[in-house]
Amino acid sequence: MNVETKCLHAGYEPQNGEPRQLPIYQSTTWKYDSSDDMGKLFDLEASGYFYTRLQNPTNDLVAAKIAALEGGVAGMLTSSGQAANFFALFNICETGSHIVASSAIYGGTYNLLGVTMKKMGIDVTFVDQTLSEEELQKAFRPNTRAVFGETITNPTVSVFDIEKFARLAHGNGVPLIVDNTFATPVNCRPIEFGADIVTHSTTKYMDGHATGVGGAIVDSGNFDWMAHADKYPGMTTPDESYHGIVYAEKFGKLGYITKATSQLMRDLGSIQSPMNAFYLNNGLESLHVRMDRHCDNALKIARFLKAQDKVAWIHYPNLEGDDNYELAQKYLPNGSCGVIAFAVKGGRDAAIRFMDSLKLMIIATHVADARTCLLHPASHTHRQLTDEQLREAGVAPDLIRLSVGLENADDLIADLQQALDRI
Ligand SMILES: *Cc1c(COP(=O)(O)O)cnc(C)c1O
Repeated sequence: MNVETKCLHAGYEPQNGEPRQLPIYQSTTWKYDSSDDMGKLFDLEASGYFYTRLQNPTNDLVAAKIAALEGGVAGMLTSSGQAANFFALFNICETGSHIVASSAIYGGTYNLLGVTMKKMGIDVTFVDQTLSEEELQKAFRPNTRAVFGETITNPTVSVFDIEKFARLAHGNGVPLIVDNTFATPVNCRPIEFGADIVTHSTTKYMDGHATGVGGAIVDSGNFDWMAHADKYPGMTTPDESYHGIVYAEKFGKLGYITKATSQLMRDLGSIQSPMNAFYLNNGLESLHVRMDRHCDNALKIARFLKAQDKVAWIHYPNLEGDDNYELAQKYLPNGSCGVIAFAVKGGRDAAIRFMDSLKLMIIATHVADARTCLLHPASHTHRQLTDEQLREAGVAPDLIRLSVGLENADDLIADLQQALDRI
């Protein structure tokens, strides 16, 4: 099946007489006939459901769709994109581990790694993702356990050179984890370029309608944990909390997701509600159609903004002449996403006057939505970062993040025009 067809048909495949729409298993618990039946589940000797803090069939069917879209072997849903990135990393890191991450990642993930995971004794080195392989190699240490980046960075819309980072990660015997939120598997499938694990904030394009916060993790099954057994004791030595199971041995290519589900979900309980998974599945069914329209609209608007005297600068990866144009041609030939980063001349005051003058476009702490929205990261999403951290993350103080929706592009351009006229 092609990706468009998978959006509709992967995951839940109803059998004769079963409901066409995905059933919502709105149940915390499952019933078993004998104590022994249930005991086997707790020993991971049989697969089945027992408690929604760990697993729920509605979630698993939607995760299976996302795994199919990404070309992975297994997936899981989490309560948010933050939980997805935390679980993806914490599943293979522990106190004393080190992570190499692009400095251009989403502000929330930057804090997760640089503040919260640091408190857990997991160190991070943020790198300029445009450096050469030779320069980037210097960031690796003997205790490095993962490399992390975003296919298209939020909010600077820079394109991550997945193959370059996959070579570096694999050369150092660690997996590459890529947050594919902005591109979605419709526009880029990082596993095809060497990524080992893919994460998502499903809150964004996958849901697409600002309905539910959620996340997803997909494993390619390609990373050989046993070949690097000394680095990943959690995957390759007995888990005493499951009677000595060795995940990479017992579950093979499914070991990584099985561990994240049966250990991290069990202990940290960041599951997506089945109701939200149902909404997410509805969003996924039209993802390919919406991504096309988001990209068409964004390119029209990027061209419009570029031609305006009052616009100081603009970044959109598919815009001819953009710094990331070459990388976009390689990784995102059919389009990138609906997000544009730009600035108006006149600094912060002009930016605020411009934003407050918009009538159709709304100011929202959201992105990748059906309705056009925008924000000013330095005063909103990234306001907890210092000026130096902002610079390190490549977020200019005047950057406006415009998330182009599905409206008619002419209506959006008219709104931008009247707001620019007011500066
Ligand atoms: C929004 C976002 C996140 C965090 O996701 P939530 O669902 O808000 O927790 C992570 N990565 C990227 C690229 C995002 O845009």
